[in-house]
Amino acid sequence: MSGAPGRDPMDCVPGRRGSPSALELAKMLYKTPALVRHRVRCGKPSCRCADGEGHGPYWFLHWRDGGVQRRRYVRQADAAAVRRVVARRQRDDRAARRAAALAITDLRRLRAWLRELEAGW
Ligand SMILES: [Zn+2]
Repeated sequence: MSGAPGRDPMDCVPGRRGSPSALELAKMLYKTPALVRHRVRCGKPSCRCADGEGHGPYWFLHWRDGGVQRRRYVRQADAAAVRRVVARRQRDDRAARRAAALAITDLRRLRAWLRELEAGW
């Protein structure tokens, strides 16, 4: 990434070495993740966020992994690219759902036609 180092306040958040980036996750997760922006609490009892508004808002990917809700921080520098990937996948998902619905309609028609045909023998 070419973003200036240290500019993003969450860049220091631990991510396992070699774990996929938010952009890679957006592309390769089995189901399209949701891109959402919200504030976070750091967990330090002495921090202003403990009873205040929280830090951010920051962008996150949210998805389900089995029954577990997961999230991954999206660096500000990657947010636009991640948003494009998620939007394209959402369009593809809608197209796939429409195609499946049409196929089911065709199948029902075919079945009804077959029934008529059989009744006519
Ligand atoms: Zn805090």
